[in-house]
Amino acid sequence: MEKIKMTTPLVEMDGDEMTRILWKMIKDELLLPFIDLKTEYYDLGLEYRDETNDQVTIDSALAAKKYGVAVKCATITPNAARVEEYNLKEMYKSPNGTIRAILDGTVFRAPILVKGIEPTVKTWKKPITIARHAYGDVYKATDMKIPGAGKAELVYTAEDGTEVRELIHEFDGPGIIQGMHNLESSIGSFARSCFNFALETEQDLWFATKDTISKKYDHTFKDIFQEIFDAEYKEKFDAAGIEYFYTLIDDAVARVIRSEGGYIWACKNYDGDVMSDMVATAFGSLAMMTSVLVAPDGTTEYEAAHGTVQRHYYKHLKGEETSTNSVATIFAWSGALRKRGKLDGIQELVDFADKLEKATIDTIESGTMTKDLALITTLENVNAVNSEDFIKAIRVALEKELG
Ligand code: NAP
Ligand code: MG
Repeated sequence: MEKIKMTTPLVEMDGDEMTRILWKMIKDELLLPFIDLKTEYYDLGLEYRDETNDQVTIDSALAAKKYGVAVKCATITPNAARVEEYNLKEMYKSPNGTIRAILDGTVFRAPILVKGIEPTVKTWKKPITIARHAYGDVYKATDMKIPGAGKAELVYTAEDGTEVRELIHEFDGPGIIQGMHNLESSIGSFARSCFNFALETEQDLWFATKDTISKKYDHTFKDIFQEIFDAEYKEKFDAAGIEYFYTLIDDAVARVIRSEGGYIWACKNYDGDVMSDMVATAFGSLAMMTSVLVAPDGTTEYEAAHGTVQRHYYKHLKGEETSTNSVATIFAWSGALRKRGKLDGIQELVDFADKLEKATIDTIESGTMTKDLALITTLENVNAVNSEDFIKAIRVALEKELG
């Protein structure tokens, strides 16, 4: 069989620990035999990040901007223990944070559904994708303990020195206050990323805040979304047969639980933090959760939502067998290949991505899976396999798919 040709390289961001091991297995077993894989390779493994003083992370993000599509392996975000373990020159920032800041992107997390791993919420039949605004609000807030009676105010001083003041509260005893902010530009980027991703995946977009109580703050989010939608996206949504709607967060929560899934739920920073954990847990497994970073200019980076699975890596280093789930990392590759195929008009690449996903799901549904899934599946006669045998089983299914 002739290998599928690519015209534009994918930006490949390699990573750390167990996921780095899986990364190579996936390429060797599931990609290289079938595709004339064209990538521009960036090694975001911690050793090389340290060697380049983290310049490689910046370079990889700029390359993603240049080519439009990237696929990323999970990476270590160093803490004190990692600085010692890897003898690092400094405690580098999270690569995901660095890349997100350069691309100005929004992260979309979606579960991969398979028969036998059932959502806790019985009505959910399709994935629910959570989009979390990743800037500001309580994550960049200043808070203060108020020791006793006194007046607290918000003060804005313009560049020309004029002041605007708003009373927060006249305290007659001790209390607490908090000041937080957001930027119209960041909210606008968030909105565009959400609209673009809805069009890309042909799903409805829901957005919810607490604008009835937060009449200026949350209401501004609501207004910016609506203005951008009306001016730039309404016609495209109509043409695609999808819908954007805004509702109060309380109403959204109730609707989500009663829904079948199959839409994108855009959330402010805090709501997204909390709701994504709830939705991910209710869908069954962190190892089955994908993560896509979408920039307002359309640049897209695909990865797994989970980390480097450190505990499994240490077992692997000791020569012990591991049973690490590679599904989300495989779907990062298929997502990136599909996107590249669509952008470059290479239908074979799009078809390959579909078949790779189907082969992966079929493998699990036929009973062959890693231990994490074997523990929670409702299927009977399960064949729990190690990391490598799982990928080999997918290859068998993939070869059948490809004919
Ligand atoms: P983790 O790698 O997500 O793993 C936490 C636990 O979840 C694992 O020990 C394992 O449980 C289970 N798990 C996660 N993914 C799995 C998979 N694919 N297959 C089977 N089990 C899986 O999180 P962590 O251990 O807290 O973090 C490890 C490193 O990852 C850290 O250095 C962190 O900085 C980094 N991290 C990176 C990203 C990213 O690059 N996007 C995201 C999160 C964390 P058992 O051990 O019980 O089997
Ligand atoms: Mg959280």
